[in-house]
Amino acid sequence: MNNTNNNNTNPHSNKKWKTVIIGTGPAGYTAAIYSSRANLNPLVFEGNQPGGQLTLTTLVENFPGYPEGIMGPELMENMKKQASHFGTTFVQDSVVDVDLSKKPFKIITQNGNQYFAETLIIASGADAKFLNLEGEKELIGRGLSTCATCDGFFYRNKIVHVVGGGDTALEDSIFITKFAKKVYIIHRRDELRASKIMQEKAKSNPKIEFIWNSTITKILHDTAGVNGITVYNLKTGTSENRATDGLFYAIGHIPNTSFLKGQIELNSEGFIKANNRQYTNIDGVFACGDVQDSFYRQAITAAGSGAMAAIALERYLEAL
Ligand code: NDP
Repeated sequence: MNNTNNNNTNPHSNKKWKTVIIGTGPAGYTAAIYSSRANLNPLVFEGNQPGGQLTLTTLVENFPGYPEGIMGPELMENMKKQASHFGTTFVQDSVVDVDLSKKPFKIITQNGNQYFAETLIIASGADAKFLNLEGEKELIGRGLSTCATCDGFFYRNKIVHVVGGGDTALEDSIFITKFAKKVYIIHRRDELRASKIMQEKAKSNPKIEFIWNSTITKILHDTAGVNGITVYNLKTGTSENRATDGLFYAIGHIPNTSFLKGQIELNSEGFIKANNRQYTNIDGVFACGDVQDSFYRQAITAAGSGAMAAIALERYLEAL
């Protein structure tokens, strides 16, 4: 059954749904699988990038159950099929505004439709920040990555450059040294943002070297993918081309919370504050996945929190 509808006047709009899920990464799909199996007949907004960040990756080797790994887009397609199979309704539209001040919650979409929800699961994810260099998006999975845990393994005995000066950049670099023969960290200042303990670990790692006060201005590549970068020194004003097998961006993530417009409690970095049962500060609104997690950011942890949100929501409804 194809439950997807993308007409401008959506037949699913102007109705009250028991459960609405915003987002279709592993968190949103898993929440949909659980809540549809609980007969909550959820409506899911797919967003501008159905399947989320995993659709931008290639081989996923750390999702349990796939000993040979699975391609990110295929994993997400499988999750969608599983959610559809249990009766989830998908709408190809993005949420641009919500009113969480009273129940039912009101949801406004990009296509100009409105929907009403008794309960809401927000799983709108976060996007890795990019440098916005030419050809970047095409090079993801071909030497450019935003996830060291996912892709570090592919750089055994290779040379890797990591961009960023926060905890992620340093933790990623330390992780990649388990495989790579050399990791260069390119940071735009001469002082790191990362915690002191992480700095000590990175600085004492013989495989790690820092390139200070520098940014990347160009990614060099051939048909196989990334093979070099142009690095610009902000202090001296000079550029150099450097050979590299891999390039990792670790310059932070932007949570997709702009549509919430201050209606729900966020932390200082803009991530939704959820408790350990995925409750937000709004009664009946739950959050899961990367939109409420700047720490783990893994497909499996996002999926796990999606299951938790759906179970918490089901019990919340039972108790009403
Ligand atoms: P952060 O925002 O902390 O750091 C981002 C880094 O990227 C900064 O050094 C920043 O430079 C740099 N940067 C940002 N934009 C650009 C750009 N356009 N060009 C070049 N460099 C750029 O993000 P993280 O992902 O590192 O960390 C997020 C949160 O998660 C933090 O609170 C962190 O402490 C936490 N975390 C904790 C870990 C742990 O405890 N083990 C592991 C990983 C993350 P600048 O410093 O100049 O602003």
